[in-house]
Amino acid sequence: MSDRDGTLWLDGQYIPWRTANTHVLTHSLHYGMAVFEGVRAYQTAEGTALFRLREHTERLLRSAHILQIPVPFTLETLMEAQCQVVAQNHLKEGYIRPLVYLGSEKMGVSPRGAKTHVAIAAWPWGAYLGEEALQQGIRVKVSSYTRHHPNITLCKAKASGNYMNSILANNEATADGYDEALLLDVEGFVAEGSGENLFMVKRGVLYTPDLSSALEGITRDSIIQLAQERGITVLERRISRDELYTADEVFFTGTAAEVTPIREIDRRVIGQGTRGPLTEKLQSAYFDCVKGRAPSHRDWLTFLGD
Ligand code: PMP
Repeated sequence: MSDRDGTLWLDGQYIPWRTANTHVLTHSLHYGMAVFEGVRAYQTAEGTALFRLREHTERLLRSAHILQIPVPFTLETLMEAQCQVVAQNHLKEGYIRPLVYLGSEKMGVSPRGAKTHVAIAAWPWGAYLGEEALQQGIRVKVSSYTRHHPNITLCKAKASGNYMNSILANNEATADGYDEALLLDVEGFVAEGSGENLFMVKRGVLYTPDLSSALEGITRDSIIQLAQERGITVLERRISRDELYTADEVFFTGTAAEVTPIREIDRRVIGQGTRGPLTEKLQSAYFDCVKGRAPSHRDWLTFLGD
């Protein structure tokens, strides 16, 4: 990732991609105290647009606030920098990664005295779980790793350290030949994927776990709104793994994963074993929004040059 042409934003400056280095004694590298975002830019008929940029940037600042990391940039500056990084790298579509991390001024668990740095990179990134996954669905395994307890870490923060749990689960699932892991909470109820929220369809009703130990996904929020606009009942409540086994449809949502159907969980076929009709309806509604084909949700798009 580091050896490529391009421009990155670092602490207010646009710098060449290859020179965006950090010292090995960077505090966040040692202790995982950093927060980040994942944002997508899509090509629309009227040019490139970033999807729900404001909400992502607000969540970045909320994550930093939760972890008491002072951020020396305003929401507006960070939004503008993300647009500029996409434009300066001549991306028509891509993935944007803002990262707030603590520098190399000090070592030791306490971050006091370490300076906050903010970096923004953007690069082309196609379907996270593959193009075929969006149509055919993926195979998922319930993880032997439990999702974070909300009193062990702070799950509303999209924090780097939280992702060790995600990596362990994803490694385990993919090593066993599955596409992705599904994590349960400390009480054994469904929480989320390693980088996705989850939805279940039963008899036309859409269910999604409450957010006690899952990230407040922006794609999740978009899907809830799109479903409600189509008269679909959406219920947020605890879901057990065996409810999923007998669901009509299950799918993951996330900025990277977009809307990915799940066709099998723990070797149980879900529904017809392929993308279900409601999943397809919401997936296509989502793609209409991100690609600028849904006039009612134009406010979710920030066009380059806006
Ligand atoms: N849960 C986790 C753990 C994630 O990493 C992500 C990706 N950011 C999500 C859920 C989905 O969030 P969003 O839709 O905002 O990308």
